[in-house]
Amino acid sequence: MSQARRSVSLLGATGNIGVQTLDVLRVERERFELVSVAGGDQLSELAAIVREFDVKNVAVKSERHRDELVDLLDGGVEVLVGDEGLTELSSSADVVVNAVLGFAGLPVTLAALAAGKRLALANKESLIAAAPLVARVRDAKGAELLPIDSEHCAIHQCLASAPAHPGYPDVKRLLLTASGGPFRGWNDEQLKGASKEDALRHPTWSMGQKITVDSSTLMNKGLEVLEASALFGIEVDRVDVVVHPQSIVHSMVEYVDGSVLAQLSRPDMRLPIAYCLGLPERLAHHFGELDFTRALELTFEPADLVAFPAVPLAYEAARRGGAAPAWLSAANEVAVEAFLADRINWFDVIPVVASAMDHYVADPLDSLSALYENDALARQWAHDSLAR
Ligand code: NDP
Ligand code: MG
Repeated sequence: MSQARRSVSLLGATGNIGVQTLDVLRVERERFELVSVAGGDQLSELAAIVREFDVKNVAVKSERHRDELVDLLDGGVEVLVGDEGLTELSSSADVVVNAVLGFAGLPVTLAALAAGKRLALANKESLIAAAPLVARVRDAKGAELLPIDSEHCAIHQCLASAPAHPGYPDVKRLLLTASGGPFRGWNDEQLKGASKEDALRHPTWSMGQKITVDSSTLMNKGLEVLEASALFGIEVDRVDVVVHPQSIVHSMVEYVDGSVLAQLSRPDMRLPIAYCLGLPERLAHHFGELDFTRALELTFEPADLVAFPAVPLAYEAARRGGAAPAWLSAANEVAVEAFLADRINWFDVIPVVASAMDHYVADPLDSLSALYENDALARQWAHDSLAR
């Protein structure tokens, strides 16, 4: 191929989505050049990526991480630190993949859009928390926001036939599919005894620990309702959740004439990653390819919103608006961390979030400093609730 390669910045390169993005880049070396990466604590893995792809710019969390990484590498690489590092690397590539975990990914989302880049977004937490602020920077010249999250990537594809009027008047509703997680069909008694091993055993996807726990509580689906609304500018009352245990139909769009469009594939995140990197081109590969020569069963059922109150909690956060989604996501991060550190039971994760949400005082979220204040307050209330 003679045309210039697209430069890619991959932030969160050492994580689950990061590693799968590298897989795509490995088979698409003629199209893409990995120019910068960032990671957290897995420094030898980060150093290995830098060597393999001959990356020139790296960002890490702290000075200590920088010193360790510099020791691991033999120079020739610029190592930046903290939010400023993430911001700089998010402003200087054609495509920015935000695969950082949690609220820490916020600088990437804001900087990539403000700089007019294509943002391939896995990090849903930043969009959910900062939706009103993201809406403002999204209009920057050249900026493009493409979802890696499989459900939203499916919807992006199913919306291709909709006239791009604001709010999509031809669309009746978005149908987000959910596998139902490892606890689908469990009763309260069983859920009270759910262990960490149970929660981390996702039936259809292999993902990072935080999102795997979020899938077990269905908070992931709640967050995805907020994510869909922020991405497509469709109010949450037109976003529904439907359980589809096979994770083959990644989501659907129902139009006002009753037509339902769906996107199907085997569950493989490399497909949405490749979609976001390649658009408008479809990259030819076998990730996610379905075998229709074998029997394929697709079933759908309603979500159990009594056993899994995280979903109604997310709708309520959406209706309250302003900083309420930021509170939901921040309190959830605290509760999931506590669960993963064996400090609380699975059954207590969502009550911690609900308890923090009880302290939310309406805030329109009109500045970045207001967002950081709200994030800190929500975390504080969640920590207080853990201590009780
Ligand atoms: P992982 O925990 O596997 O990876 C998180 C990545 O973020 C790691 O590379 C980690 O570094 C890095 N990181 C953490 N903190 C920082 C920081 N301060 N600065 C730079 N890098 C940092 O998570 P996943 O890959 O599963 O998920 C990433 C995001 O994608 C999440 O927002 C998740 O919701 C979303 N997502 C994931 C899906 C999946 O299939 N995994 C599907 C849809 C969305 P290190 O490991 O070195 O500490
Ligand atoms: Mg998803």
